[in-house]
Amino acid sequence: MKKLVEQLKLLHQKGYKAYKSIQGRYEGDKFTLYIDYVQGDPFATPSKIRLEIPVRLLPIQAEWLKLRHEKTAVEDCIARAVGKAVSELDNRPRGSGHSGKIFFDKPGQEILERTAVMMNDRTVTVCMSVGLPANGRRINAKEATLLFASRIPHILNRSVFRISSETIQSAVCLADQQAAIREELKRNQWIAFIANGSILPRESGISNLPLKNALPFQSPRELEVELTVPHREKPIKGMAIPRGITLIVGGGYHGKSTLLKAIERGVYFHAEGDGREFVITDPDAVKIRAEDGRSIQGVNISPFINRLPRRIDTTFFSTENASGSTSQAANVIEAVETGATVLLIDEDTSATNFMIRDVRMRELVSEEKEPITPFIDKIVALRDKFDISAVLVMGGSGDYFSVADTVIMMDEYKPKVVTEKVREINRKYPAPTETFSRDFGIVTHRQFHPSSLQTKKGKRHKTQGKELYTIIMGKTEIVFDALEQLVDLSQTRMIAEIIQYLERTNSLEGKTLTELLAEIERKMDKDGLGFAVLNGDKHPGDLARPRKHEIAGVLNRMRTLKVIR
Ligand code: ADP
Ligand code: MG
Repeated sequence: MKKLVEQLKLLHQKGYKAYKSIQGRYEGDKFTLYIDYVQGDPFATPSKIRLEIPVRLLPIQAEWLKLRHEKTAVEDCIARAVGKAVSELDNRPRGSGHSGKIFFDKPGQEILERTAVMMNDRTVTVCMSVGLPANGRRINAKEATLLFASRIPHILNRSVFRISSETIQSAVCLADQQAAIREELKRNQWIAFIANGSILPRESGISNLPLKNALPFQSPRELEVELTVPHREKPIKGMAIPRGITLIVGGGYHGKSTLLKAIERGVYFHAEGDGREFVITDPDAVKIRAEDGRSIQGVNISPFINRLPRRIDTTFFSTENASGSTSQAANVIEAVETGATVLLIDEDTSATNFMIRDVRMRELVSEEKEPITPFIDKIVALRDKFDISAVLVMGGSGDYFSVADTVIMMDEYKPKVVTEKVREINRKYPAPTETFSRDFGIVTHRQFHPSSLQTKKGKRHKTQGKELYTIIMGKTEIVFDALEQLVDLSQTRMIAEIIQYLERTNSLEGKTLTELLAEIERKMDKDGLGFAVLNGDKHPGDLARPRKHEIAGVLNRMRTLKVIR
C-alpha cells in the first residue's frame, strides 16, 4: 500500500489520464488491493477495484462451506455487511464527478450468487467501484490517498473484519434449512411450501420489504405439514401445495395475488428478517402473464392458436406486436420449452379470452371460427402428458373448478381449503368436459440464428443492463417487463454479459435453446459468473445469477431474434 501512496504523491495535480498508471496490485497489511480498471475522467463509469482478504482472517469454519448454498450464504452475508458499512459512510463526492465515491453492489431481499463478494478456500474477494478523486480534471492525490489508505480499510474493518462467527453461522444454518425444505418439496412432489408465521405482503408496490402489522400466514389444517430441518429441534409447520392444478380463489382484496407473488419469489431464498425465509418454491416455477405488444419469433403456438384469419401459420408464428392472448400463449409455450415444471398465473395479468371461454360463447362462436383454444382446455394435458403443474389465481370465474385438484380460498388473508365444496358444486353444475384436449400438441425446440445477436451494431458498441427490465444491445433495446421473477439489476447485467459471450463465442451455432441454456448453467456452476466476461478473473462487474428461465425470457424478447426453420 505504501507503494501506491508514493505513486499517488507523484500524480498530484496531473491530468486525470495519469491515473491509468496506478492500475495493478498492491499488498496491504490485511488485504491485497487490485486496481483493475481506471476510469478515463471523473464523470465516467467509476474505476473497478478488488480487495482480496485471506479467509483465515475471518471467523469462518471450513465445514460451513461444503455445499454450494452454504458458500453462497456466506458470500451473501459478507456482502450485506460490506453494503451496510458503505451505506453508513459519508459518500458525498469529494471533487468533480464521482470523485471519492464508493459503490458496492449490495444484495436485496433475495440471496443470490453474486460477484460483489466471491470466496474460494483461501480468499474472500470484495469487488467495488470508486470514483478516483479530482478537482476539475486534475488529480487530487490527497483524497485518493485517503480513499485507499483510510476509507477502504475503514469499510473492511467495519464489515469483513468485524463480522461475527454467529452472524455467518446463522446465515449458513438458514441456508441449510431452506435447502432442506427444497429437498422435501422434491421428495414429496410438492410445488411450494409456505411456513406458518411467514409474512407475505410487501410494504408497497415499490418496496420489497415486509409489510408492517401484516397478518402472519397460517396454513389450513388439510394442507398443513411438519418438516424436520437441520439446526433446530422443533419441526417447521406450514402449507404444502401438492403437484397438479391448484386454484386460489376468494373475494377481491383478500390476499390472492399476494400469496401467488410470494410463491413466485420463492424460487429464490430470502434473507433473515424478510418474512419469506421459509417460503420455498420449485425452482423451475415460471410466472406466466399476458404481454401484448411483445415480439414473438418462430414459436409453435398451435396448441393454443389455430386457424387464424388469412391462414397465418401458427406452428412457426412470428409477430412484432402480439395480442394479449397470443402473447400469453407464447409465454406458456416458451416456458414449457425451457423446462418449466410449474406455471403461475394470476387473473389480474391474464387475457380473459386465453384463460376461459364459457358455454354461451362456445355456442355462439363455433369452434371453427375461434382461433383460440383456451388454457383451460389444455391444462389437464399439460399436467398429464408433461407433468407440468399450475397455480392459478381466479376470483372471477368458476370454470376451472372442473379441472382443479386443490382449491384454496383466501378469506381475509387466511387460506382455507375448499376442494370438497368445489367438488359438490361440480356435481351440481357439471361442466362440458368434452372440450378438454387429451393432447397438448408439439412443443418445438427452437434453434436461433447467430445473427440474432447484434451487440456490435450501432455507434457505441454497447450492450448492457440499463434498468431491471431493459438491456441495450447495440442499436436495439430489449425490453422484458413481463419477466417478473427477475429481481435484481445485477441479474440483468449478467444476462447482458451472457448475450455478449454468446456472440463472441458464436455459441448459438448448431444448438437448440434448451442445449444452450444447459451449457450456460454448467459454466456458471463450474467457473462462476465471471465465465461470461472478458478478463472475468479480474473485477467482472456487478453481476448476479439469473435463472435459465429469465435468460431465455430475454433472448425470446429480442426484436432481432431469428429462428431457424
Ligand atoms: P387480491 O388479489 O385477492 O385482490 P391482494 O393479494 O392484492 O388481493 O391483497 C390486497 C391487499 O391486502 C394488498 O394491499 C396486500 O398488501 C394486503 N395484504 C395481503 N395479505 C395480507 C396480510 N397477510 N396481512 C395484511 N395485509 C395483507
Ligand atoms: Mg389480485
